[in-house]
Amino acid sequence: MMDIDSLLNILENKIKPDERERILRAYRKAEELHAEQTRASGEPYIQHCLAVAAILAELGLPSPAIIAGLLHDTVEDTFMTMDDLKKEFGEEVALLVDGVTKLTQLPRVSGRAGGSKSIVLATESELAKETLRKTFLAMGDDVRVVVIKLADRLHNMRTLRHLPREKQERIARETLEIFAPLANRLGIWQIKWELEDLSFRYAMPEEYRRIAAFVDERRVDRESVMNNIIDHLKHILSEEGITAEIKGRPKHLYSIYKKMERKNVPFDQVFDVRGIRIIVESEHDCYVSLGVIHSQWQPMPGAFDDYIATPKDNYYQSLHTAVMYEDGRPLEVQIRTPEMDERAEYGIAAHWRYKEGRRRDDAYERKILWLRRLMEWRQDVDDASDFVDAMKTDVFTDRVYVFTPRGDIFDLPSGSTPIDFAYHIHTDIGHRCRGAKLDGKLVSLDHKIKTGDVLEILTTKRGGPSRDWLNPSLEMVASQRARSKIRQWFKRQDREQNISHGRLLLERELRRLGMEAHSYENIAKEMDYSSVDDLLAAIGCGDTHLGKIIPRLDKEEEDHDEFTIPTTAEFLNEPLGSEEVTILGVSGLLTQLARCCNPVPGDQIIGYVTRGRGVTVHRLDCPNILRIRDKERLVQVSWGQQMQRYPVSIRIRAYDRDGLMKDVSTLLLNESISISTLNVATKNSLATFDMVMSIMDINQLSRVLNKIEALPNVLEARRIRPG
Ligand code: MN
Repeated sequence: MMDIDSLLNILENKIKPDERERILRAYRKAEELHAEQTRASGEPYIQHCLAVAAILAELGLPSPAIIAGLLHDTVEDTFMTMDDLKKEFGEEVALLVDGVTKLTQLPRVSGRAGGSKSIVLATESELAKETLRKTFLAMGDDVRVVVIKLADRLHNMRTLRHLPREKQERIARETLEIFAPLANRLGIWQIKWELEDLSFRYAMPEEYRRIAAFVDERRVDRESVMNNIIDHLKHILSEEGITAEIKGRPKHLYSIYKKMERKNVPFDQVFDVRGIRIIVESEHDCYVSLGVIHSQWQPMPGAFDDYIATPKDNYYQSLHTAVMYEDGRPLEVQIRTPEMDERAEYGIAAHWRYKEGRRRDDAYERKILWLRRLMEWRQDVDDASDFVDAMKTDVFTDRVYVFTPRGDIFDLPSGSTPIDFAYHIHTDIGHRCRGAKLDGKLVSLDHKIKTGDVLEILTTKRGGPSRDWLNPSLEMVASQRARSKIRQWFKRQDREQNISHGRLLLERELRRLGMEAHSYENIAKEMDYSSVDDLLAAIGCGDTHLGKIIPRLDKEEEDHDEFTIPTTAEFLNEPLGSEEVTILGVSGLLTQLARCCNPVPGDQIIGYVTRGRGVTVHRLDCPNILRIRDKERLVQVSWGQQMQRYPVSIRIRAYDRDGLMKDVSTLLLNESISISTLNVATKNSLATFDMVMSIMDINQLSRVLNKIEALPNVLEARRIRPG
């Protein structure tokens, strides 16, 4: 049984005497108002209020939220009105309770029999979606409302056994679908895992019992193994002068279940993966510890993640790695500082925990910014299911944070491109976006944004989006918001405009290629359009593009006599250069590979007719090509048969060790690959090798990068833009 003293004990000396007084007053009020009510368990209702307030106190929330926690059900379930609440406990508390009440009311509204059609929702999943939407609407600008709601849900889940079976299942599923992900979004791990495990028990009782029994059976064994590992690690680290707190990571039942499902592996394989967490004093010690561990045991390839340098979207920071422990089985390791640990456990609530006397918490400020953006764009979406789809892709996936040159931060779903970024700044900027600069250098429009990128969007004065942006295989756009803005734009273009725009495009292209002889009627027929206008409209709005049409016309035409390459005559007599690139079906022309983007066979390429130096071959997405004004000088090129070697810039990031470079060069030697330049930089014991190597084709490149990544201590190997 919980009482007011245990609540005050949690708060201890964290509250001033007048706050204590107000909390006591709220407690008495709640007790009085709920006096007649009992919980399904038979306990007095005030138990629930106290429990919710205690969860909030343990998370470290300040007193207005605790008071709101005590009073959170008064407006909903008693005679208390919002006005009374405001008079007695002030506006702040009243607003918090109001927010929570709005969230609570929702399922009841939609569940009401005989209500108007528009509020009776068809299915449970509709209901879940609607709840989710309402959650975000009600959140307003105050994230504390959601935290109180989560505390409320957590206590309800803890006492769920008292409810009838069918209610248990529904509530458990709703918790799994909505509230656990929400806790995850806010980074409150403590609440997330408990909600998950409780929901799991009621939503999937059989699976729950099965896994719980397994875990129980192994508990003793596992604990003794873990203790041995921990002692061993402490010893090794202390020899390097590092004081570390090391804990075994408890495996939560639902996470075991999910892993079994996702990877389709048996219990043993999931459960036998041992996880430990190492807490050390400083960021520097984190990296040193990583080095010590990597030199002691063989690191498993691909398991290293540096969330210190690149925090997750919910500001989780830690180093992750996995090594092959001496018993021949994997050991997962997380390394972090106490502050990172606190944030990992309490997420957004960590801010309230150490509000006093610490420096401004930038991560928190950015998180609030994230919430505000979310609030802003929810207004763009009217339809609930649209909103939820958008939430699914935009909110419940990892996100990246990107900066404008002025220092404004935008957060985008991971996989976002400069186009997504442009649309998030402003719809109009999105429509007119034609290029982007990353840290001052041009990047292509399908560049995948990474957290910390500083991006500047380049726009034209007029014009709109390209239909290509909507082509999913091109991966030009990742966010729902940008996608829907682009669609809207095309819908608004009227047909006449699309036709005349399409005519312009087709005319110009045919002229450039010397193919004016083709009649539009034939082209329309060839492309299966019922009229010329339909064809032109389709070109104009981007439904089809010239890249599809021109090759077909080319094939249709048997003799290539009219086929001339404009302005190339001057170099046709030059001595032949490399054979490996074919220009418009003619091989053996003087070509050179552009040094700005170093294309290799397999890349999509395009030729640029230079003055006197033949055709320079660029990658299709080369920034230099994207900004070329003189489109007349671009020619189609393709890779021919004969393969030569091509320079490619690659970057290797590794935890430095003796003999690493030798291993890399042996590997390259075996593939007969030579290295032409090499730069090494070391920081925090992490080494970055930039090199240019000559490779045969994209397959070889991919194979070699994989092999390098599999070397001990190598964190990643990838192709980069040269320079
Ligand atoms: Mn409640």
